[in-house]
Amino acid sequence: MNRSKSEQAYREAVQFIPGGVNSPVRALRSVGEAPLFIKKAKGVTLTDVDDNQFTDFCLSWGVFMLGHNHPAVIKAVNRAVANGTSYGIPSLQETELAKLVCRYIPSIEKVRFVNSGTEAVMSAIRLARGFTKRNIIVKFDGCYHGHVDHMLVAAGSGVANLGNNASSAGVPRSFVSYTVSLPFNDSEAVRQVFKEKGGDIAAVIVEPVPANMGVVLPQSGFLQLLRQLTEQNGSLLIFDEVITGFRLSLGGAQQLFGIAPDLTAIGKIVGGGFPAAAFGGKSSIMALLAPDGPVYQAGTLSGNPVAMSAGVATLELLSENQLHQQLNKKAAVFIQQLREATLNKGIVVNHIGSMFTLFFSERSVNSFDDARRADQKRFGEFFRYMFGNHFYISPSQLEANFVATSHTQKELERFVRVAGNFR
Ligand code: PMP
Repeated sequence: MNRSKSEQAYREAVQFIPGGVNSPVRALRSVGEAPLFIKKAKGVTLTDVDDNQFTDFCLSWGVFMLGHNHPAVIKAVNRAVANGTSYGIPSLQETELAKLVCRYIPSIEKVRFVNSGTEAVMSAIRLARGFTKRNIIVKFDGCYHGHVDHMLVAAGSGVANLGNNASSAGVPRSFVSYTVSLPFNDSEAVRQVFKEKGGDIAAVIVEPVPANMGVVLPQSGFLQLLRQLTEQNGSLLIFDEVITGFRLSLGGAQQLFGIAPDLTAIGKIVGGGFPAAAFGGKSSIMALLAPDGPVYQAGTLSGNPVAMSAGVATLELLSENQLHQQLNKKAAVFIQQLREATLNKGIVVNHIGSMFTLFFSERSVNSFDDARRADQKRFGEFFRYMFGNHFYISPSQLEANFVATSHTQKELERFVRVAGNFR
């Protein structure tokens, strides 16, 4: 494959941008590749600057369920752009999107838009601390909540090392105090932390279905336990549905599992391919936000009219014709075939709805420890092999892949066949 223009683009980019990329994983270092520079995307086809084409299963890290550049979204965006691209003054599109978010995710009675998932989480945490007047945040190893300092606490910091482990963040310890990270799916650890610190815990934040240690499913009763303990202890439950929101169902993971969190962070899909995200929840909690209350939160580009229009067009499309049911069914058949084709290759395929991860592991993957034990080197080989066959999968087995409505049967079957031939 000729990649000379991408190589040249990378040589130029590194002179001005750290690592040549604006988000580290795009550098493809962990899979032993050089970055790819894209010139266009349509449906599930990426075209790079050398005119190589790839069938995309990363889909901008889960932004697109309908594929890139959906005509109805582009039409809405063009209409919005014609009227100006930012006002810093309210516009009708903001309420329009807010209405849809509150309708589809009923635990969100009020919502505020921000520009990234990181910002959504950061704001939800500030609000949870303001509301409870407590400090401790409980998170789970391998769940990613953006590059907020106190959310980068390393795995295994546990209760004993309360707030004392920020090695992965590379920032001074004092910045990250009061975050506890526990093993996902470990009910006993959660019970223990509430027993010891219950009265000081502001919130438990969790990806209800983690996608950032690869896709890992919550074990039966785990999310219910989080709901129960937070309620009993006056702590808030925050669902980070930046990936699962609108994806696992129109109402996200919380609809699927029948659990109403106090606050929810959403992102990716809600911006329809533009930098928008949101956090929301009970009116009584959201009432603390400025200008109604004392918890300050703001943003120059928040509720950007172009992003809001893209979000409205996207959510309208997602609410039509039992789209989730059809997409999830298509994905389930694909995953079944993929499992059969990769049998006896030391591959575990974790899957829910339209999200999946291939782990190079001999045993099932139910926690961050299991995910980390999976064979990185083999995954790197697999990534390069799929890439050589013109598939772009997420460049880490600690990430999710996505099936879109625009993946054709033929493309899915070719993926199964090629993956099945991996040695
Ligand atoms: N939360 C989750 C669950 C995510 O997957 C991500 C990003 N992948 C974030 C938060 C951060 O979002 P962003 O990259 O938009 O800041």
